[in-house]
Amino acid sequence: MNLHEYQARELLKAAGVPMFDGGVASTPAEAEAIARRLGGTVVVKAQVHSGGRGKAGGVKLAKTPEETRVHAEAILGMTIKGLVVAKVLVVPAAEIASESYVGLIMDRASQGPVFMVSAAGGMDIEEVAATAPEKITRLAIDPVYGLLPHQALGLAFSLYEDYAQVKTAARIMQQLYQVFAANGCSLAEVNPLVTTPEGQVLALDAKISIDDNELPRRPDLAALRDDSAEAPSEVTARAAGLTFIKLDGNVGCVVNGAGLAMATMDLVKYYGGEPANFLDIGGSSNPEKVVNALRIITSDPAVKAILFNIFGGITRTDDVANGIKTALEQFPVKVPIVVRLTGTNEAQAVKILQGIGMTALGDMDDAVKRVVAVVKEAA
Ligand code: GDP
Ligand code: MN
Repeated sequence: MNLHEYQARELLKAAGVPMFDGGVASTPAEAEAIARRLGGTVVVKAQVHSGGRGKAGGVKLAKTPEETRVHAEAILGMTIKGLVVAKVLVVPAAEIASESYVGLIMDRASQGPVFMVSAAGGMDIEEVAATAPEKITRLAIDPVYGLLPHQALGLAFSLYEDYAQVKTAARIMQQLYQVFAANGCSLAEVNPLVTTPEGQVLALDAKISIDDNELPRRPDLAALRDDSAEAPSEVTARAAGLTFIKLDGNVGCVVNGAGLAMATMDLVKYYGGEPANFLDIGGSSNPEKVVNALRIITSDPAVKAILFNIFGGITRTDDVANGIKTALEQFPVKVPIVVRLTGTNEAQAVKILQGIGMTALGDMDDAVKRVVAVVKEAA
């Protein structure tokens, strides 16, 4: 679950990270009032779950409350990477002498938290990683000990020469680690961490993602979820108990099991197609889940064909076939469906599908090749 910047700031601020106090507005008038209260130059910032807001015109400096209103008018309602801006953050503007990057991620390779820091901050860290990886310092953290003081100093020395700044940055990294560890984060980053001409070190941006598995035991964090800020298909899928991630392709995928779902996406790409989604209907599939899955996938106009890949173990393939039948009775599915199923109750499943004029393949390669061919014909 991604937090908005204004929510992430609250967590970092509570841990002691130095940041200016601001306010959140949903209307231009509210933004203007916040700017009037703060006085001086402010920054108006789009609150959407996306980086690169600066480049997209979603971060603007305003010298007066009137200018703040004008910028808020332009930014509220703006679309950034497909997400509509419903709120803006208004904070006092900082004068910037340097911009650094400080981030923490849960890293698959080292199976634990990894710090990444870089003096090349402000821009996308992905871009730095691609063009100048030597500018990023990495450090794997042992979660038993956390970030030790000498490690924090070592990281901070890769950013600053001035010792007062090094000490402040080291403290900020320990605070960031504390927030990361205490809230089940998969990502916590400050980009940019700036120095001002007077030598202050300040966090100007905050980004936090929380592992969904943390939410059932942390209602305080779960309450931060903003459904309106997420892709509608993902919100519907979550409500239906499906694990669904929308992607940019045109082959809709309905699969049981996360591993098979990923293998299916790989194979779709291998045969020259592009998956429209990741979807795991789970182990014990009841027909209802299949109906919901089809409803969600067919509501995406980009989808040109749908691939079922079901390996029946605990999942009964006849349940899946009944789900397809029920869905087709309930709403029109205008794109071709290719079904591969094998395993538990396969014979019954094939019969159910034949009853509605559909066939089922048994081989995964055959099914993926067929669906890719179908999509190419439709294009
Ligand atoms: P992002 O583009 O979505 O990561 O949004 P950021 O909050 O990182 O803002 C983008 C850029 O706007 C920063 O890298 C800064 O260059 C600039 N910016 C943000 N806040 C301030 C500020 O208080 N003062 C000044 N001068 N620039 C700012
Ligand atoms: Mn940023």
